[in-house]
Amino acid sequence: MPRYDRDEVARRAGFGDWREAVAATAGLSQQEAARVLGVSHPTVRTWRAAAGQSVAVARPTAEQAREAFRADPGDERHGSANGYRNLGCRCPACTAAWSRYRRERAAGGS
Ligand SMILES: [Zn+2]
Repeated sequence: MPRYDRDEVARRAGFGDWREAVAATAGLSQQEAARVLGVSHPTVRTWRAAAGQSVAVARPTAEQAREAFRADPGDERHGSANGYRNLGCRCPACTAAWSRYRRERAAGGS
């Protein structure tokens, strides 16, 4: 959607321009913001991405993903060598899995 159309839509919803509309509805879900703005929720997502919002939330960085894993004891990847080595977890289950993995490798097992 060309920018002037975004501004037109935003003005109809009572905002100065589309960036103001995105900022004013930033605390709402896409569906709620879509209702306020009178657009579809994929449009809200497009506007937010264009304004530089929500991109980090929608796509966590690798480090954020690792932190989320370590903070969630229920994640099924705990207790694996992958959890210890690649995801950086040092919980007892991952540490034990890593020790086992190293022992097996040292012993020539697979
Ligand atoms: Zn772990």
